[in-house]
Amino acid sequence: MTTITSKIVLTVTVLALSLGAEAAEVTGKILIGADNEPGQWLSVGRTYDEQRFSPLNQITAGNVGQLALTWFADFDTNRGQEASPLVINGRLYVTTAWSKVFAYDAKTGKPLWNYDPQVSGGTGIKGCCDVVNRGLAAFGNKLYLGAYDGRLIALNALTGKVEWQVDTVDQARSYTITGAPRVANGKVFIGNGGAEIGVRGYISAYDANDGKLLWRFFTVPGDPSRPQENTALEKALSTWTGDLFWQLGGGTVWDGILYDPVTNLVYFGTGNGTPWVAEARSPQGGDNLFLNSIIAVKADTGEYVWHYQVTPSESWDFDATSPLMMAELVFNGDKHRTLMQADKNGFFYALDAATGQLLAADAFTTVTWATHVDMQTGRPVEVPAAHFGKTGQPVAVQPGAQGAHSWHPMSYSPNTGFVYVPFVETVSAFAPDPNYKARQGTANTAMGRAGPEVMKNLPEDAPRTSRAWLLAWDPVARKEVWRSDMRGTIASGALSTAGGLVFQGSQKGELNAFRDSDGKQLWSFAAQTGVVAAPVSYAIDGEQYIAQLAGYGTRDYYTPNHSRLLVFKLNGKAQLPPAGELPPPRPLNPPADFGTADQLMLGAETWNVYCVMCHETAYGNRGLFPDLRYSPLLHSAEGFRAVVLDGALEARGMVSFKQRFGALEAEAVRVYLTQRANQAKLAAAAPRP
Ligand code: CA
Repeated sequence: MTTITSKIVLTVTVLALSLGAEAAEVTGKILIGADNEPGQWLSVGRTYDEQRFSPLNQITAGNVGQLALTWFADFDTNRGQEASPLVINGRLYVTTAWSKVFAYDAKTGKPLWNYDPQVSGGTGIKGCCDVVNRGLAAFGNKLYLGAYDGRLIALNALTGKVEWQVDTVDQARSYTITGAPRVANGKVFIGNGGAEIGVRGYISAYDANDGKLLWRFFTVPGDPSRPQENTALEKALSTWTGDLFWQLGGGTVWDGILYDPVTNLVYFGTGNGTPWVAEARSPQGGDNLFLNSIIAVKADTGEYVWHYQVTPSESWDFDATSPLMMAELVFNGDKHRTLMQADKNGFFYALDAATGQLLAADAFTTVTWATHVDMQTGRPVEVPAAHFGKTGQPVAVQPGAQGAHSWHPMSYSPNTGFVYVPFVETVSAFAPDPNYKARQGTANTAMGRAGPEVMKNLPEDAPRTSRAWLLAWDPVARKEVWRSDMRGTIASGALSTAGGLVFQGSQKGELNAFRDSDGKQLWSFAAQTGVVAAPVSYAIDGEQYIAQLAGYGTRDYYTPNHSRLLVFKLNGKAQLPPAGELPPPRPLNPPADFGTADQLMLGAETWNVYCVMCHETAYGNRGLFPDLRYSPLLHSAEGFRAVVLDGALEARGMVSFKQRFGALEAEAVRVYLTQRANQAKLAAAAPRP
């Protein structure tokens, strides 16, 4: 063991010597051999197989008790932090909310440069789920950033200066980028998001040198009266019906992308359709390819190779965009290069990377929309009542729209053979909106309101609120090995190390270390704020570090979120400033109910179409947006209008809605919210039954 440690540390020391202008470039060869660089973290998943396993073993189950903060850096935002840093040649690079980039001396924390792409506050409305960013790619002496407004930007890694930038999206549509680019063979691969609103998904490859577009693969067919971009899409066309689908699209590639140098393929997951409800977007049925699928294309040309549709004809927001991971595993006596995904839909999938053959598909949490996956056909066997678009009846389904496992990175330890999956037990009530009409530039889910009674039919042990865990999954034995104690309501990314540890944050405001073999919790750090991003590990001058981005609402919008980079080593000496007392929860203080029944109805309608996506808990309002029932502006028609129509808070992401509705609707929303606030106040005052 000692020999291995010294060898790794020695390699790292040599590599880390060159912090300075002469720092070595990240070549294709270095990226392919990233496992030979245990002290660095060269791409978002560390290696091309995206196992997020650090071979460093200085921090162990025996000494993790001495792991302590060694430096930290505060950010100028209280929006969500989801990125994994890169560590290259002694520098640490990290992205924050609003697509900003910061570079530090990875040993000391000394700031080196920062870059702000000046994403306009108004683009906040184009996304479903906060102006987050999940990381960078590196190649040559450049870093690649996908900015929230759809730009792909190449930065000089030494100076932070822009080398080139291209617009990867149609600005007239609600495209956003939150995922990390991947880079291979001199190409940068980047997708985008927006399927909740109505955009046609695709992934693009750009020349890493100059930003020239090299190829683009659309995930859903375009206008059926015109030739499709390729034969795969011509075939996919027959899986769609009606005339809505090509106008709204969906199937966005917003997170999981993996390049494999062995197959020379690029793999990516696609999101849900627009709208969510299958019967609303494709009225005469059909699987709707390539929504909710894992797709393999040739890295050099973008040519289709294979696909596996994880959830055909999908209606529950089960994006198949969760991180993808590669490992050599044995199934039924045969070794397979295996692509893995723990999907939002609650099943853990293993696929042969060359052919797409389904090797395993097993529920890793309670799943009520399907009984199992038929291994002959590869299709899920659905529970008919779950398909609310067909039945027209509201239904509660597990997992819920938040997913059993979304973007939160999982980690694979070759030492234990386990995949560490951050997952959430969730339930959502689904109902179709019989009056759904397609709209441009706002939420297009076609979801109606399911009354609270639908939740009453759930079994006693079903989660009433979300419950997050860390799960150790054996992908070959196809079963759970252990799970942590419950850790809050939102998942957090994971890192495993050769020190026998798994690190994972929690939305409750912690970073924890667990023993990889049995899940025993060995260490915990009070982060003062929610932690959902995945940690990384690196080494400099013979010392192993753990770096973790923190910053997520721990309670509600009004509780400060300390957006920070936290860096740890054994016997670190830094200390966070005291967190201070949490402010008391805000009281509900609405005016008395006012307005007419017509206003109330118009307000509810307007709210459901334009406002719920950010301000309603059903969409996972994780304290990132204010709960408007508490807004003092409910008392002021003028103040409310100034924000909603005149854009008074646009710089903070609350854009003007005057392109979409007028003063009548704005006032009606105030009437509706006031009633909701008074109902909540009354319920809080009522004695418990
Ligand atoms: Ca989605």
